[in-house]
Amino acid sequence: MKAVVIGAGIVGASIGYHLAARGADVTLIDKNKPGSGASSHSFAWINAGPKSPFEYHDLNRRSLEMWERFAQKLNTDVGLRWGGKVSWEAETHRAEELRQRTKLLQDWGYPIREISSDSLCAMVPGLDPGPVSVAEYSEIEGHVEPPRVVGACVQKVSDLGGTVLINTEVLSFGRDTQGKVNKVVTTNGDLECDVVVIAAGVDSSRLAAMIGADVPQQESPGVVVRTDARPALLSNVPVVYMPPINQRERQVHIRQLMDGSFMIGEGSQESMALDDSPQHATELLGRATHYFPELAGTEAIAEPVGYRPMPLDSYPVIGWTQESSNVYISLTHSGVTLAPLIGQVASMEILDRADLVFMSSYRPNRKFILTVHDH
Ligand SMILES: Cc1cc2nc3c(=O)[nH]c(=O)nc-3n(C[C@H](O)[C@H](O)[C@H](O)COP(=O)(O)OP(=O)(O)OC[C@H]3O[C@@H](n4cnc5c(N)ncnc54)[C@H](O)[C@@H]3O)c2cc1C
Repeated sequence: MKAVVIGAGIVGASIGYHLAARGADVTLIDKNKPGSGASSHSFAWINAGPKSPFEYHDLNRRSLEMWERFAQKLNTDVGLRWGGKVSWEAETHRAEELRQRTKLLQDWGYPIREISSDSLCAMVPGLDPGPVSVAEYSEIEGHVEPPRVVGACVQKVSDLGGTVLINTEVLSFGRDTQGKVNKVVTTNGDLECDVVVIAAGVDSSRLAAMIGADVPQQESPGVVVRTDARPALLSNVPVVYMPPINQRERQVHIRQLMDGSFMIGEGSQESMALDDSPQHATELLGRATHYFPELAGTEAIAEPVGYRPMPLDSYPVIGWTQESSNVYISLTHSGVTLAPLIGQVASMEILDRADLVFMSSYRPNRKFILTVHDH
């Protein structure tokens, strides 16, 4: 089977790898450098915690549990680090919300628990949390480095006999009399294909529209800033969510990469943010330094705004399009958490023509209603 995968972000790269590993003849295409889209802006926290309803939480959990095996198959250190996540609240209303969320997740069977202020400090050396009304520990969460994952998948596709075309943009599709795509037109010539996978992140809707499919998105800008390299700080619990330092500001979250640099994001995993100025980067680092005094002297590095691929109703869009029976689409938020699962699902649905029942809510032909998660 000749499969053309459009988009070498973490999702397209995972799909390309899973297809190639099962013997498909894969061509993985990216209009830029692989991994340079949303995947390079991601906080890359692997989690299922703050996700609802239960069905969507469970989808994320399923993928979270697949990450270790996926990383092993890639056979290189992709920066996958476990150890969980902590968060805490001081203010009464936010504390009550955290308590309720913790209880709900426990009822869903998610390993999360309330911890004391002393335990929080013991688990995160270097943390000065201030007053703590409630704190929680989500023990199965972790994080990863998407550029390394993409690089490893691209290498595997190549090693397995596939082709990787970089700086190659897909411009249009040729179709046969039944509406199937039989040609992918790119800036580097035409490609024949049996199957096309659209995994082009925010550009997926535009490509889907070329075959008449309506896959609506909402705009979801986000900012994650970086720092210079520092000695290991978060070596026990690798992901830390800190409460707002005053009523005007949002919470910040932090993790440390293999090279010692930190990534710091604002609000939740879905929060909209447009300020990518160096001043704002310094301010976010200041909020983290408030809780981690050892960060004093660290240099903040501003990063441009990243746009999340975000379906209109915020839930994944995965499966065959009705408009062209050999075009498969994958458009999703939380693509870092979901990459192993989507790669496996797509390879089974494409190569075995399986119809995975737990994916039935996420098909492209559903009715989309705008749902925004920004807290
Ligand atoms: C600020 C921010 C924080 C986030 N935090 C988290 C988090 O903590 N945890 C989590 O799980 N997820 C998080 N996400 C979401 C996650 O990063 C994305 O869901 C994921 O990276 C999407 O991957 P993708 O491969 O679908 O898209 P992308 O990484 O955007 O890749 C799409 C690729 O398609 C290519 N392309 C587009 N059009 C064409 C064309 N016509 N021809 C050829 N190539 C094309 C692009 O160049 C790009 O490389 C975050 C995202 C952002 C922006």
